[in-house]
Amino acid sequence: MDYEAVIGLEVHTQLITRSKMFCGCANDFGGEPNTRVCPVCLGYPGVLPTINREAVRKTVMAGLVCGCEVTGPSKFDRKNYFYPDMPKNYQLSQYDQPFCRGGGVALEASAGFSGAPLSPRRIGLTRMHLEEDTGKLTHLERCSAVDFNRAGVPLLEIVTDPDLRTADEAYAFLSALKQAMQYAGVSTCDMEKGQMRCDVNVSVRPRGQAAFGEKVEIKNLNSFRAVHRSLEYEIERQVAAVRAGQAIQQETRGWDDGTGATFVQRTKENAHDYRYFPEPDLMPLEITPAWVAEIAAGLPEAPVARRQRFVQQYGVSEYDAVVLTAERGSADYFEAVARGCPNPKLAANWVTTELAGALAQAGLTLAQSPVPAAALAELVSLISAATLSGKMAKEVFAEMFRTAKSAQAIVSEKGLQQVTDSGAIGELARQAIQASPGVVAEVRGGNTKALQFLVGQVMKLSRGKANPQLAVQALKDELGRGR
Ligand code: ADP
Ligand code: ZN
Ligand code: MG
Repeated sequence: MDYEAVIGLEVHTQLITRSKMFCGCANDFGGEPNTRVCPVCLGYPGVLPTINREAVRKTVMAGLVCGCEVTGPSKFDRKNYFYPDMPKNYQLSQYDQPFCRGGGVALEASAGFSGAPLSPRRIGLTRMHLEEDTGKLTHLERCSAVDFNRAGVPLLEIVTDPDLRTADEAYAFLSALKQAMQYAGVSTCDMEKGQMRCDVNVSVRPRGQAAFGEKVEIKNLNSFRAVHRSLEYEIERQVAAVRAGQAIQQETRGWDDGTGATFVQRTKENAHDYRYFPEPDLMPLEITPAWVAEIAAGLPEAPVARRQRFVQQYGVSEYDAVVLTAERGSADYFEAVARGCPNPKLAANWVTTELAGALAQAGLTLAQSPVPAAALAELVSLISAATLSGKMAKEVFAEMFRTAKSAQAIVSEKGLQQVTDSGAIGELARQAIQASPGVVAEVRGGNTKALQFLVGQVMKLSRGKANPQLAVQALKDELGRGR
C-alpha cells in the first residue's frame, strides 16, 4: 500500500520591537546574561504587565500579509506550567481569541529542496497569536544556567492547517513565510539567533484515505534543514511501523542532528494540561477596523509584487528578479543601485555576479558589504558612460571592495580613465599599422582574425585603456584611408 504524510507546522518568530512584550526592557539579542531584566519579566510577585502596542501592530501586519482575518476582540491567557525557563510559572499567550485567524501562504512552482519539482499550492493557516518568549536554558556539565534576557520578548506563533504533504513542501512553506515576514519588517527570522523556531506535527495515512492518522510532534527544530531531515526520517519511521502492523502513538519527539534521528520525549499519558485561563491583569483588546486599515495602507510591497515590478520597471530577467528579491535586503540594495545609475540591467548583473561573488569569497553578508549601494551605482555609471571598460571596472571593483574607496577616487588615483578620444586612438591605430606591415597585408587580404591582432596592439599601446569599439573603428578608418 502507498502511504502519504500529513504535516502541520507551529512556527515561532520573535517580533521586531524596541522593548519586550509586557515590560520596558530592551528587545535585543545576546549580551551579558540577565542584564535586560526587570521585576515584570522576572515574574516578581505583585507586578503588572502592560501590552506593547508595537508588538500588536506587527502581529496585525503579519496577519494582513498572510491574508488572515484580523478582528477583535482578543485577549491574553495564562498558560500554566512549571519549568525553570519561566519564572512566573505561566506564559502569557492567547488561547481561544487570537489576533489573527485563517489566511494562507502560497507555495510557488519550483524545484523543491531535494530537487524534485513542487506544484504551486496554498497552505492554509489556522491562526496567529501573540505571546511572550521564555528564558534560555543552557545545560552545562553539572548544572543548567538560565538567561532571562529572552524572557518576555514578543513572540508570534503561526499555526498551519494540516495541509503540507512532504518535507520539501514544509521547507518551501518556511522559506515563503520567512520571506513574507522579513519583507513586512515583522521579524528578522534569524534562525541562528533563535528568532525563528519550528515544531513539526506529522502523521501518515494510506493514500486516498480521508481520515488523518495519529500525529507525532517533533519539537524545537532550529533550522529549515533540520525540519526537512527530521520529516524525512519520521515519515519513513511511521510508514515502516504502520506496514509492520504497529499503531502510531501520539507523542512528542526530539530531533538529534548528530544521529539524524527522532527520539521519544513525552507520551500522551504525561501530556501537559496547561489549564489556560484569561489573564486577570489585562483587559481584552479590541482591534478597530480603522486601525487595521491604517496598518494595511502602510504595508511594504510584498516579495512577489516586487519581483514582477523589477522585471517591468528595470528590465531585469525573471531569473535575476528571483535572485534579487529572495531577501528584502538584496532587493533594497539592488533598487538603490538601479536608481543611482542609468543602466539597471547592468546594475542587476553587478549585484548578482561580481558583488555576490566577492561577498561569498570574503564570507560576508550583503549587510556587511564594504561597497554600499551608492558606491556600486557610481561604478556602474562609469561603465555606462564608457569611462571604464568592463575589464577595468572589475579591477576598480576589487579595489573598492578591498579599500572601501569610491570608484571615482580609484579611477583618478590610478589614471584608469578609458581612452575615448578618437584622435588619440587614431594615433595609436596608425602606430600599430606602421609596426606590423605583414599583418596589415593579411587584413587587406580579408583575414578578420588579423584585425583582432591589430586591435590587441592598440589596446597594448594604450595600456588597456582604449575603448575597444573605438579602436576597431579607428583601425578600419586608417586602413581604408591608406588604400
Ligand atoms: P494539538 O491539540 O495537539 O495542539 P492541534 O489541532 O492544535 O493539535 O494542531 C497542532 C498542529 O498539528 C497544527 O499545525 C495542525 O495542522 C497539525 N495537525 C493536527 N492534526 C494532525 C495530524 N493528524 N497529522 C499531522 N498534523 C496534524
Ligand atoms: Zn523586563
Ligand atoms: Mg495546539
